[in-house]
Amino acid sequence: MADILSYTIEELSQKLAKQEISSLELTKAYLDSIKKQDKNIHAFLSVDEALALADAKKADTLLKDAKNITKLTGIPYGVKDAILVEGMVCSAGSKMLKDYIAPYDATVIIKLKKAGAVILGKTNMDEFGMGASTENSAFGVTKNPHDVTRVPGGSSGGSSAAVSAHESVFALGEDTGGSIRLPASFCGVVGLKPTYGAVSRYGIIAFASSLDQVGPITKTVDDCKIVFQAISGQDPMDSTTVELKLKKPERKKLRIGVPKEFFTKGLDKDVEKVIKDTIGKLGNKGAIIKEVSLPNLQYGLAAYYIINMSEASANLARYDGIRYGHRGKKAKNLREMYEENRGEGFGEEVKRRIMLGTYALSAGYYDAYYLQAQKMRTLLLSDFEKVFKDVDVVAGPVSPVLPFKIGERIGDPMSMYLVDAYTVPANLTGLPALSVPAGKVGKLPVGMQFISGKFEEPTLFAAGKMLEKIYV
Ligand code: GLN
Repeated sequence: MADILSYTIEELSQKLAKQEISSLELTKAYLDSIKKQDKNIHAFLSVDEALALADAKKADTLLKDAKNITKLTGIPYGVKDAILVEGMVCSAGSKMLKDYIAPYDATVIIKLKKAGAVILGKTNMDEFGMGASTENSAFGVTKNPHDVTRVPGGSSGGSSAAVSAHESVFALGEDTGGSIRLPASFCGVVGLKPTYGAVSRYGIIAFASSLDQVGPITKTVDDCKIVFQAISGQDPMDSTTVELKLKKPERKKLRIGVPKEFFTKGLDKDVEKVIKDTIGKLGNKGAIIKEVSLPNLQYGLAAYYIINMSEASANLARYDGIRYGHRGKKAKNLREMYEENRGEGFGEEVKRRIMLGTYALSAGYYDAYYLQAQKMRTLLLSDFEKVFKDVDVVAGPVSPVLPFKIGERIGDPMSMYLVDAYTVPANLTGLPALSVPAGKVGKLPVGMQFISGKFEEPTLFAAGKMLEKIYV
């Protein structure tokens, strides 16, 4: 038997159903793997061993009786620390919420509990999701399992590193501007940012509400599909969700559009080569490759950061240490209390965004910044809609750069923001996007990004599987 830790959900679900292995055995193997490796990787912020073992035993009873079994019954997974799991600390990577215990389960967690999956613990992230390297966590950086001197990407760096290092079979992430796809690309795993409205955000710590989506991080595209099916669907607790009607690919031959704006100055030559070679191989396998253009893409990053910071400044207003958040000890009056609680509780990047976002929303500036940025989204979406008349998916790099060294960009916020150039368009437009391993430069993974029309996740999975066959 191959190493139990190397199996995918698809393989494990068969072995569990046939009782060739038990969930308890599997969960123990993963807890051991965490114990062995996580001192070095730091993917997890907390692990609840007793709960995981109890859930695994419950799953084994279901499996024995062959009752209410799904492909996820008995499968251990990690949860980004922005997603509420009842009774567990949910810190969002912030000192502000380090003692906050979730009073209820997020809808995605309720769904996975019903499916019988086993929670291992909560994974590390950039504070409130703000970052591309996990270095903004208040609880220390996560390391890239492929090279521990480098970042795993962010903000769902803990979830991606956990899957990559076989510390969990799959994990949940959250993506506001690339936070699932970027770390998936850096860690050599699969990550999906679903269509806006496909997955409930009830019980997720809000970052920028018009951009946030929850999604899976997995070892394979098939696994990604399984988790996506389990967590998606309309939820009365989140009015932005819709009844899910996924569109299946209509054509036999996949038509791939390659936007020329994805291959410009800032793109690392080695990353470019991997992506171009892979697109060539997809062509050899029968895909139709066309060059396309997204003329408004150049404004994407600027629009994203205005919208992101504006919405974050509003969402984070609730952390004043009264109902939620860190409470300081010295303040003598209300004003001092706000200053102290928020001054001590938030990290530097969070404060930067609150200040810039508040400025962008202030009277007189709202029209010049937030409103303009919102208009940009419509233009960008119409660029994509035009392109999707001729092709089924758009393909390009996930990140313009390879996984960078820990410390390399953290002192320069602009250089960190630039890493998001290719991921933010999907959030601005609400389109679904998938990151799939496409190759390596030395030992460093490079991810390919596929973007499709709304609710066309099945097309993304088809494209992802085609790529997987080329590069395993
Ligand atoms: N790098 C992006 C940012 O800092 C990622 C945000 C996210 O997707 N949570 O805004």
